[in-house]
Parts: sequence; structure tokens; C-alpha cells
Amino acid sequence: MDRLGYRGKILWVDLATGAVRVDEPRPEFYRTYLGGPGVALYYLLKNLGTDDPLAPGSMLVFAPGLLTGTPAPCVPRYTVCARSPLTGALGKSESGGYWGPELKRAGYDAVIVTGRAATPVYLWITRGGVEIRDAGRMWGLDTGETEELIRADTGERRARILGIGPGGENLVRFAGMVSDLTHFNGRNGLGAVMGSKNLKAVAVYGSQSVPVHDRDQIREIARWAGEHCREHPLSRALHEHGTPLGVETNNAGGCLPTNHWSRGVFDGAAEIGSERLTAELLVERGGCFACPVRCKRVVEVKDPALRVEKRYGGPEYETLVALGSNCGISNLKLISKANELCNRYTIDTISTGMAISFAMACYERGLITKEDTGGLELRFGNEEVILSLIEQIAYRQGFGKVLADGPRAAAARIGRGAEKLLVEVKGQDVPMHDPRVKTGLGLQFALSPNGADHWFAQHDPFFNTPGSLGLAAVAPLGILEPVHALDLGPRKVRLVLYTSFLNAMYDCLGVCVFGAVARSLIPVNHLVRLVKAATGWETSLWELLKAGERANTMARLFNLRHGFGPEDDSLPEVFFKPLAGGPLDGQNAIDRAAFARAVRLYYAMAGWDAETGVPTQGKLLELGLDEFVGG
Ligand code: SF4
Repeated sequence: MDRLGYRGKILWVDLATGAVRVDEPRPEFYRTYLGGPGVALYYLLKNLGTDDPLAPGSMLVFAPGLLTGTPAPCVPRYTVCARSPLTGALGKSESGGYWGPELKRAGYDAVIVTGRAATPVYLWITRGGVEIRDAGRMWGLDTGETEELIRADTGERRARILGIGPGGENLVRFAGMVSDLTHFNGRNGLGAVMGSKNLKAVAVYGSQSVPVHDRDQIREIARWAGEHCREHPLSRALHEHGTPLGVETNNAGGCLPTNHWSRGVFDGAAEIGSERLTAELLVERGGCFACPVRCKRVVEVKDPALRVEKRYGGPEYETLVALGSNCGISNLKLISKANELCNRYTIDTISTGMAISFAMACYERGLITKEDTGGLELRFGNEEVILSLIEQIAYRQGFGKVLADGPRAAAARIGRGAEKLLVEVKGQDVPMHDPRVKTGLGLQFALSPNGADHWFAQHDPFFNTPGSLGLAAVAPLGILEPVHALDLGPRKVRLVLYTSFLNAMYDCLGVCVFGAVARSLIPVNHLVRLVKAATGWETSLWELLKAGERANTMARLFNLRHGFGPEDDSLPEVFFKPLAGGPLDGQNAIDRAAFARAVRLYYAMAGWDAETGVPTQGKLLELGLDEFVGG
């Protein structure tokens, strides 16, 4: 059978021995697992023991989606998976940009890295194969400096480079990795796994377009998406204002995380919102491979005291809030500089911001003092500490050493009840969305296998209103009636379950969540057409959603194997208390009993044991996961 849409090759690199091999799975493998986390989880479950995530025996998988690299619109993404050094559970992080498509163009569906190199190295992957090259000169450098050296070393200006900065090298447990200096795999500490392997970067250059079954059909849908995008309100807003639009919207709704989740409104919101950013700092709108939306922000600050280089992109909503309102900071230039530093050092902006806001909350309550912080006055709104704390975290210096191992370790070191101030799930800091205004998001945070994750399923407000774009987008899944954002009953659980399959399917295909449901630029049935056109398979939405469900179930198995259970599917205490400030002051505490019932109902609907959360044998067999029955 022809290999269309996918390349039929999985590249294995053992950094300890330098051994390289290529697996060529059967076509049925691709139809079962598609790509992205489906493929990565298959290999992790088959091969990974219970090693320390930072030990040489750990496995790190880079896997583009099935459609990534084809001309399909809004499909640039790839997944990185390993056991997370932050949570001990599944580590999984998606990013867009151009790196994933380039790997497919070089002829590979995934790269699996094992072992630890004796000295720093980078991988250079082309159509001719892979070379393990010396990165000794690059170790200790930031990502911009590293990119320049790798381009010079390979002689290929068009190479796409996914690498780590000092945060990854210093094994910061929430270190990520960045490609083209702007597209970030932020969550779960996978940059530390790279650092533990002495792997500075994976550079790729592929000169070959990905063969597909019906290129004209894909191009026709891409053309339609390009035109439709211009009049599609949600895509137009994303292009114009980007994700920072959420700052103003959430502040008006009384749910903007502020001062470490103690308030839902921020007096300085207008100063860090999308309008200000667009008017004062935006110099370009960036984008990803074959995507007509181009939602990414590129900012520049020329002020010599706080110079921000545009090659590092610009802050997204999560960054503006985590390093802005949630730390009480309303200086947009400072947040942009903080974003640049996080990209240079490759530390996750969400977890970095949360580490700082947590430390501020501890300081304000007297749990730590200047003596503990090396003289830093960690008060909410103190602009002077932000950049120095980022440096200290990335280099594990000063008080940064206390924060660099993630929230649970930081709370344990501080003691004195500091753990009561944590806002995390499974050891990963909660992203900047408040589940008290969208309870399905709370279920996502609790149930996501990789700790608090705002893209495990779709966000409730899209499905709140009759006739909305979001509701129309999920009609092909059989969701026909609006479900209130605060509902925690069976209809909400079903919505979360179905859209968790949908989001997993997106990840397996490489689809960007901003391009498809619920923003609905690319309807789900168009995705089915795209998969048919790319692969030639006579597929269906049912088959593709099943692949998403399969990936989620494998993730559940992975976590069970590593000791996670129902007690880990929980929410931080703060969300069982009312919001403070703004229009929802004193309201919207999540009902604890209703939430616990909803989690159990999710288990039951997913075919997991309602008490233990273990997928039943029947469910595993139904999904064709026979080889994983029994764990
Ligand atoms: S919508 Fe934005 S993030 Fe998604 S693929 Fe397009 S440009 Fe990239």
C-alpha cells in the first residue's frame, strides 16, 4: 500500500551508543494511531519502564500529526511526549509553527530519542538520515544564539530548529523547548528531559513535499479556508487581536486570574490587554505552516532599558496573565521582556508566572521573608523582581532554586502551610482560565492525564447559546442542545467526554485548536475529507474520533502504570470558594459533591471503572488495545 499523508518511517536515536535505526510500521498502525500522541503513547507504553524521567533510560518522542506537512489548512502541529519530570505522569506538549511539517518533509513520522549523550549534542535530520553532532559550543547559550550556531554549522539557513536554553540544561522541571524562537512546547517539563539527555536541539531540513492521495482536493479546501477565514468572525478576531483578547473579555466577566487567583478583576487589565498590545507593541502577525489565520503576535520594544527583540515573537494570553495580572503586573513592555527571556531560556511562561505569583502569595502572608528570597521583595505588583526571578529560576540560582522544581517541591521547601496556596493539578500549575465560570473546564483540569491542561477538551462557553458557531460545530458529534457553562450534570459530562475525544483526534492529526471546533473555521467533516484526500483511506468521523478516544485511554493506562488514580483527578481548593471582585464577587464556587459525581460519571461514560478509573477490559478490547489489557 502507498504511504500517503504519512511517511512510513519512525526514526530511533540512542544517544548513549550513537545507534540509529528506522522502523517501518505497517499501514494499519497509522490508521489505528494516526500520529502525534497516538503514535507517541504507543511507543511509550510498549517500551517505557518506571524510570526516573530524567534518567538516561527515559524515552522522548517527537511526533507530528498524521496530516502535518500536507497542504491542509491549520494543521501544523506536532506532539512531544515523555514521562513528565514535573508531574511524574504523562508529559505531553503540542506546538505549531514549521518544525513538525519539516520533519515530515525530511521523511519521518516521529523521532524517538533514548539514552544520554556523554557530551552535549544536537541532531541534524535531513532526507539523507540523521547525524549526531557536537553541541559543546552551544551548551549554556540561549536559544537565539544556539539557532545562529546551528545554521552556521549545518550551512542550511532554512533548517527548522527545536531546542532548549539554559532552563532545559539546568533541568528546571517546567522547562520547555522552542522552535524558530517563537513556537513553544511549554508544558510538563519536557525541555528538562532534553537537557537530561545532553540534547541541545533537533534541527531538521526536508526538501520533499509529503505525498498525498488527492492534492487538488486538499488545495480546494485550503483555498476555501483562506477565503472563509476573512469573514469568519472568530478567526478574524484571532487574526486581529490574537489570544490576548481574552484579557479584556475575562476581566469584564470577573474571571481574570489576578494576584495568584485571589481576585477575578485586575485594575491594570486595559494596560496589558490586546488593544494596548496591538496599538503600541505589535509589529507583525505571525503564523504557522499552511494556516490562513496567522494569529501569532510579534512585538518589538526599542527602549534600550527594556529592549525586546521581535525574533522571539510576543506574549500570548496565557503569558500576559501568568506574568501580568496574576503577579499584579501591568507593565506591558516588562511582560514582553519576560516572555522573551522565557523563550531564550526555554521555561514555560505559565509555570514561571505561577511560580512567581505563588512566591508572592507566600511573601504577602509572611510565610517567607526577604531573608529567604535573597532580598527580593516579592509583593504583588513589584515590577523589579520579575526579570531577576526568571533568571534565577532558569539558572537555579538564589530563590529560583526553591521554585525550579515545580510547585509541590517549592511548597514543601517553604513549609508553614504553603501547600494551601498551590493552584495545580497532578503537580502542574493551572493555566490562566477559571473553571468557576466554566465547570467543564474544571473537569478537564482534573481529568487531563498531563496535569491541568486547558486543551484536554473544549471550553464550555462555546456551547452555551442556541445557534452559536460552537454548537453548530459539534452537531456532527450528536450534541444538539446548548449546555450551560455552569452545568455539572450528565449533559456537561458527555460534552466534555466527546470533545476530549475530539481534541485528542486533533492532536493525532496535527490540527490546531484555534482552527477547528469550537472556533469552527474548519468543520469536523472537512477534516474527514482532508484525511481521505491525504491518505486515500475510506475513513469516517467515527473512525477518527475512535483514534482520539484510543489515545486518551492509552494516556490513562500510562498514568495508572505510574501510580496515578482517582485521588489525582481533583481540583485545587481555590475553585471550591467563590470568586472575589467584579461582577461575580462572592459567587460561583464549584459544588464539591457535584464535581466529584461528574468525575465518576466521566469514568463510567468513558468505559472506565466508576470507582477506580481503570479502563475496563471490555473498553480496551473495543478500542483494539488488546496488547495493553492488564496494564
Ligand atoms: S490558528 Fe494561529 S496558532 Fe493555530 S495554526 Fe494558525 S497561526 Fe498557528
